[in-house]
Amino acid sequence: MQKGTISVQTENIFPIIKKFLYSDHEIFLRELISNAVDATTKLQVLAMRDALKTEIGDTTIQIIVEPDEKRIIVRDRGIGMTEDEVLKYLNQIAFSSAAEFLEKYQDSGIIGHFGLGFYSAFMVADKVEVVTKSYQQTAKNAKGVKWTCEGSPEFSIEAVKKDDRGTDVILYINEENKDFLEKHRLEGLLEKYCKFLPVPIQFGTRTEYETVGEGDDAKQESREVANIINETHPIWKKAPTDLKDEDYQKFYRTLYPMAPEPMFWIHLNIDFPFNLTGVLYFPKLGNTMEVTRNKIHLYSNQVFVTDDVRDIVPEWLLLLHGVIDSPDIPLNVSRSYLQSDGNVKKISEYIAKKVADKLNDLFKSDRDAFEKKWRDLGVFVKYGMISDQKFQDRAMNFALLENTDNAHFLLPDYKEKIKANQTDKHSKIVCIYSQDPDSQHSLIKAAKNRGYDVLKMDTVLDNHWMQHIEYRSDLGLVFVRVDSDTLDKLVQKDEEKKSVLSEKEVETVKAVFEKAVGENNGASVECAPLAPDDLPVTITKPEFLRRMKEMQALHGAGGLGDFPDSYNVVVNTNHPLVVEKLVKMKKGKEQSGLAQYLYEVALLQQGMLRGEALTEFVSKTLGRL
Ligand code: ADP
Repeated sequence: MQKGTISVQTENIFPIIKKFLYSDHEIFLRELISNAVDATTKLQVLAMRDALKTEIGDTTIQIIVEPDEKRIIVRDRGIGMTEDEVLKYLNQIAFSSAAEFLEKYQDSGIIGHFGLGFYSAFMVADKVEVVTKSYQQTAKNAKGVKWTCEGSPEFSIEAVKKDDRGTDVILYINEENKDFLEKHRLEGLLEKYCKFLPVPIQFGTRTEYETVGEGDDAKQESREVANIINETHPIWKKAPTDLKDEDYQKFYRTLYPMAPEPMFWIHLNIDFPFNLTGVLYFPKLGNTMEVTRNKIHLYSNQVFVTDDVRDIVPEWLLLLHGVIDSPDIPLNVSRSYLQSDGNVKKISEYIAKKVADKLNDLFKSDRDAFEKKWRDLGVFVKYGMISDQKFQDRAMNFALLENTDNAHFLLPDYKEKIKANQTDKHSKIVCIYSQDPDSQHSLIKAAKNRGYDVLKMDTVLDNHWMQHIEYRSDLGLVFVRVDSDTLDKLVQKDEEKKSVLSEKEVETVKAVFEKAVGENNGASVECAPLAPDDLPVTITKPEFLRRMKEMQALHGAGGLGDFPDSYNVVVNTNHPLVVEKLVKMKKGKEQSGLAQYLYEVALLQQGMLRGEALTEFVSKTLGRL
């Protein structure tokens, strides 16, 4: 037996390895199995080049747990190592790459803690043995090598008998990490990290049941079979032309067993200027953006890295589900570095473009179906348009507006449709909308009677989105809510309406209404000579202030904390009820009663009459009959 000291300049890194990465001790298994997969793949490459003297045989990687001995064995039948290679790879290369890793890790947040490699074994083991035999040692009595290290720079190496080619890495699990000796814990880790590795991985056996015989003679027979825990050819590595819809749906179910069916998916496949494969699914979002994050899994050559892809995929694309696999994403770097990495930037641009192309295809090939899905797609598309200028440009070809009659329009088409009737004195085209078509029904109806179209803007992002569309000067669109002004002024023209009443009469009307409305509730009364067929009283909430308040509510606290919930009570002084009735009444109870009633009707039309006020209104109305 030969003994030695692992040559390093730095101080002993074993205690650091053990102390570091508390929460992520579990990655040791991924690192060791990745090495086993690499060793196997290398052998397969040699076999393909006819560089081997023997058959490669079964190359299944075995994960063996022996709780009584407190050990875990990762066994491969890959290329193995000669004694020289053990000395070189395990003592020098592996050790120095671990040291380098730990140095970088001080930076914190290294993605998926990739790169610690072989030495991560010492996070969970007091003693590690490597028993290995190189593919080159084909002589009959050729021996293998056993390397032993007990978590200090001292190691020993000796020749041992080993029949098979390949490597056993034997971990003697320490007390602190003994939960890794539990079958379920290991199963969980294999499921998480190794589910799609390209070489079969066996973890013990499992019982398979089979019905043999027929009718009364039928009986269940059981047998033990190898428990292979991975799918070596996952869907994203296959050619899209070889796959059916069912294959994609089935894969989605294996990833997210509880999720509803996805709407559709895109298969990513590119090898220049970077290598990336994957399948991204569009979940049914509905009107929310919350529940679905952390659903994209990042792989590197089929090894699971992380499900936190925030720095690789732009925020708005995180609403998608699925898998991306790219060996070109640098994994042993800190997050801040990652964001500035050129490849990572190109990758997110590529994904965004693919997503836009897919949406465009769907729209072009079946507009009806696309419109039906718009409720679930809209939030996603709008989020993308807000966050990504390039996507916004592309989305002009498929982003839809829906009006209160449930008809859908592309933005340019809608503009054409309303241009004639809804262009204001500043040559802006005014889009009128409602966030709650049910409770604003009568206002919407009045607007439609005037020849206006009213859009439905009732999803979480619409406020933001409208603002972004307004920013685009090339479109020349503005958005106003149907109650932001009186019908007459929604689309502002220059013409002045003539007043039927005298100035004095208008003053009286104003005073009567001011009394009816009362003070200190954020309301102010305004008289306007509108069209006789406009509503007698309209509650308006100026667009700008209302939007500010809504934004503030969405973002929590802000400078506008005490902003009053203000509104205007606009009295139409040309309405017959005012001209013919109100001003002709005697001052007093009857007149103020009518003003009060008209005001309350206006509140009711806005859905602002609630609770006790509503009950009183109803009984008063019944009392009048
Ligand atoms: P990395 O895998 O990033 O090179 P590691 O520290 O994990 O770093 O391993 C160092 C080297 O040890 C590997 O490059 C490989 O040459 C060798 N090695 C590790 N595990 C095995 C194995 N199971 N079979 C053959 N060689 C291995």
